Amino acid sequence: MNRAKGDRAVKNENMIFPRGTVLRIQRMSVEDGPGIRSTVFFKGCPLRCAWCHNPESISNTPEIHWEGHKCIGCLECVNACPDHALSSTDNGIAIDRSKCKGCLTCTEICPSTALEAYGGTMTASGIIREIDKDRVYYEKSGGGVTLSGGEPTLQPAFARALLKELKEHGLHTALDTCGQCQWETLESLMPYTDLVLFDVKAIAPEQHKDYTGVTSTLILENLLKLSEFMESTGMPGSLWIRTPVIPDHTANPVNIRAIGTFIREKLIDRVERWDLCAFNKLCTHKYEGLGIEWGCRDLDLVAEDEMERLAGVARKVLEKPDMVFTSGQLEKPRLSLITGGKG
Ligand code: SF4
Ligand code: SF4
Repeated sequence: MNRAKGDRAVKNENMIFPRGTVLRIQRMSVEDGPGIRSTVFFKGCPLRCAWCHNPESISNTPEIHWEGHKCIGCLECVNACPDHALSSTDNGIAIDRSKCKGCLTCTEICPSTALEAYGGTMTASGIIREIDKDRVYYEKSGGGVTLSGGEPTLQPAFARALLKELKEHGLHTALDTCGQCQWETLESLMPYTDLVLFDVKAIAPEQHKDYTGVTSTLILENLLKLSEFMESTGMPGSLWIRTPVIPDHTANPVNIRAIGTFIREKLIDRVERWDLCAFNKLCTHKYEGLGIEWGCRDLDLVAEDEMERLAGVARKVLEKPDMVFTSGQLEKPRLSLITGGKG
């Protein structure tokens, strides 16, 4: 087969069996929509949120990472790397990412899974086969499948094919999006989406840029268009807003009040609930494995009473208290030593 014919054949195959770059499928998820769900994490994200909990989802290609506690020091990987991107140092195996071409030879040769890749290519049908294993849980709990990431709208053809196939399998579908995409992309996914989980981190454009690397302009435009689209077509059936609550960033009453005011004034009849999702540090090892310095590593968790205060602000501004929910790991109040009596 000549090169042009070969390329055409691959393109046709991708149209028949759409493929995408997926980080992982998380089963038994209870925080990405109603009921028990499977969440499909796409790779690739247009934002660079300072607090990102999934740094391994930002790049749109598979990435290798090294876990020292699994390494037996055989140096098979160093010898096998065709691009001399690996070396043995006092701190273990060092990865020179400027040399790494992502061939994954090292992950295949490593006997102890100390070197592994984040992400890989999957077809929509392959994902459905995985997801079908938990169908009974979705049916019993009113759950389904959520596309998250990363950002699913960065792989629109694949996201559309997967959502369509999920609907054909009779499953409830949710799309978790940061909203930073062309409106036409979002619109094209709606016929197959039951619920949109739309992230709103801040309203002020420059503040949003400080936190995420992009302004809020396109995101809020898309949110308003989505609301109008819901009104005229009934698609998606439900819209939830999600706000990450991050100390020193989004976790302040002014920001929460601004988002709440936007929801109340422009979206109130369309939004079903607003989730305030607390910062967590469970991702610290991922930053270490990827060799990335994480600026939020020393932040404290949100204190329980602070979260209650912010939820109180949200409830007050919406004037519909039942719409506001909180989730995530919180810092418990420290018990103070009570002294008293004689002595
Ligand atoms: S091949 Fe795996 S176990 Fe051996 S040195 Fe490399 S990372 Fe460690
Ligand atoms: S993925 Fe390939 S190029 Fe990158 S370090 Fe491993 S063997 Fe070397």
